[in-house]
Amino acid sequence: MSKIKFHLGEEIPLELHKVRVVQKLHLVPIERRFEAIKEAGFNTFRLSTKDVYLDMLTDSGTNAMSDKQIAAMFQADDAYAGSQSFARLYSAVQDVLGKKFLLPVHQGRAAENIICRAFMKKGNVIPMNYHFTTFLAHVLENGGKIEELLCDHALDFSSDHQFKGNIDINKLEECIQRNGVENIPFIRMEASTNLIGGQPFSISNMMDVRRVADKYGIMLVLDASLLGENAYLVKQREEQWKENTMGDIIKMMVGLADLVYFSARKLTSSRGGGICTNRKDLYQKMEALVPLFEGFLTYGGISVREIEAMAVGMYETLDEDMICQSPMFIKYLVESMASHGIPVVTPPGVLGAHVNAMDFCSHIPQNQYPAGALAAAFYLVSGIRGMERGTISSVRDENGEEILADVELLRLAVPRRVFTLSQVKYVVDRITWLYENRNMIGGLKFVYEPPVLRFFMGGLEATDDWPERLMAKFRKDFGDSL
Ligand SMILES: *Cc1c(COP(=O)(O)O)cnc(C)c1O
Repeated sequence: MSKIKFHLGEEIPLELHKVRVVQKLHLVPIERRFEAIKEAGFNTFRLSTKDVYLDMLTDSGTNAMSDKQIAAMFQADDAYAGSQSFARLYSAVQDVLGKKFLLPVHQGRAAENIICRAFMKKGNVIPMNYHFTTFLAHVLENGGKIEELLCDHALDFSSDHQFKGNIDINKLEECIQRNGVENIPFIRMEASTNLIGGQPFSISNMMDVRRVADKYGIMLVLDASLLGENAYLVKQREEQWKENTMGDIIKMMVGLADLVYFSARKLTSSRGGGICTNRKDLYQKMEALVPLFEGFLTYGGISVREIEAMAVGMYETLDEDMICQSPMFIKYLVESMASHGIPVVTPPGVLGAHVNAMDFCSHIPQNQYPAGALAAAFYLVSGIRGMERGTISSVRDENGEEILADVELLRLAVPRRVFTLSQVKYVVDRITWLYENRNMIGGLKFVYEPPVLRFFMGGLEATDDWPERLMAKFRKDFGDSL
């Protein structure tokens, strides 16, 4: 994957940047971590970073910014309307994404809110490769439902299928015919399919989806939050695109979609988000919703400083040396974990490494949330905060029954240019110890369950005293180590 060869044989991800500003981290003793995870209701979202050593919860708003982004923030033009900062972002979007119209929004889910309100009606069906939590919540909010049309192998955890984010074209045709074109306002494709392990789609697949969209006259919407990394993996894995630049690949993918939206928290490592299109009719359907929910059309709820950082970050998406960093570290992390026998999703994708909790904790029934339990247990024994991506992140049906998730994953996000190789080695060390003691991990149950997006603020407790026993085993094996 890397262009650099090593004399000593071990292939390591090499940083192509240097550290100039640092933040002190806190590795607190396991006794404090035990208190902290209890206070947090065994939900890693509710931990405070003062109790967290490596924050691998998400890449959202946590990628390191570049010196050029920070510098640009100083030239921000504080104006409610007609800000020059917005003009710079607008130029960047035209240059990099090649779209004529841009609507700024405060983050990715705000774009989802506007798109769903503008284009969906009650009873509509949205076909897609796979859902993202906030997108699904907006579809449900607008009285619709989704169909996930992933290719075969997408949910095989250990696979060497290079494009597990691809849509199955036959399933797409079947879905359209069964539901009727009139009930499908758009098809959604998500770059680097987040919830199944940051797995990309290929350009040839997107071209096939485009052909189906054209055949039926249905709009194609691209969730471009993780576009840079998808483009990088296309360059690595799709033969026809090996010789192309990141810019060519990005333009190609974006060009195939009628409407593109993104979370700038990921795409440009700043804040904010955007919706862009070349079609005036689509732009006009959404235009009035931005001042209503976000703010005036030249800031959309984003601070002008962040808009400046977004503009620079948009250009940096074209820089392969920057975009390659997170996938290279993830590849190293995934391969190291796999070499210790840990069940981890392969091939390595983007965003983070994904541990298969269904396998790791095969003794925990799915309605006791194996991925949530693993996330809590891993924090306890390491101070590392990952994220549950499984049934806790799912929803209940109309009758209040759990909809068991297709996957139970512990996601360990690797934000761009944030962690060092030694820190990644510490992750491998602690997860391996936990794997050897996996039978000690027990289940969780809800004590506080919010009705919408419950995984964010929900509170749980252990089904018995397994956390105490795990802590005692840690002390036995590690002595007074942190
Ligand atoms: C994070 C994310 C979103 C939502 O973006 P926010 O800025 O967190 O609201 C939407 N889609 C994908 C694929 C994402 O990864």
